[in-house]
Amino acid sequence: MRILPWNIAFLLGFVVYVSIRGVFKKRTDANVKLVSRADGLEKILIAIVIPGALLLPVIYLFTPWLSFADYQLPEWLQACGAVLMVGALWLFYRSHADLGQNWSVTLELRKDHQLVRQGVYRAIRHPMYASIWLWSLAQGLLLENWLAGWYPLPTFALMYFIRTPREEQMMCEHFGEDYRDYMRETGRLFPRW
Ligand code: SAH
Repeated sequence: MRILPWNIAFLLGFVVYVSIRGVFKKRTDANVKLVSRADGLEKILIAIVIPGALLLPVIYLFTPWLSFADYQLPEWLQACGAVLMVGALWLFYRSHADLGQNWSVTLELRKDHQLVRQGVYRAIRHPMYASIWLWSLAQGLLLENWLAGWYPLPTFALMYFIRTPREEQMMCEHFGEDYRDYMRETGRLFPRW
């Protein structure tokens, strides 16, 4: 393993990040899905994003295979990455906790799906995606490797810009005026008070 302080900070955050997903996935697994928009496009987007989120960091940290793409970053930028990572983890956890039984990894609606408007959803419609933006930036600043560090940012951007309008369309079709009101009152990624 590459035992550098910022790599260890990233690894700790990575374990927390994956654990949050795992715990909430388990909690919602039994909740019946009523609507699914997980079509071919959605599956392709997930397949593009997953390697950057899960595979490349592990390969970078535990093998020398990606060393051809190594470079060096100043310490202060890596410290900024660590601060962003802590913020990303907090928002990632809060958004899962606030969505509760309504959370899905893809475009789906659960039985008795409730429109969540409280907690971090009070002012932002996509706090979980906001946390993944922050996480992707943090990954770039913490891992000194062009591929393992920066692959997530453009690939998540692609997913975000394609998925978000489709998700909002699905929510509008299901919740009608309630979701349209919610859209008027909140920001997509930045809080609107
Ligand atoms: N876009 C949100 C949620 C991501 S999880 C965010 O970034 O925080 C994706 C699933 O969450 C969607 O399939 C939808 O079923 C559900 N969802 C999104 N916004 C919701 C809300 N305000 N209330 C309830 N469920 C929501």
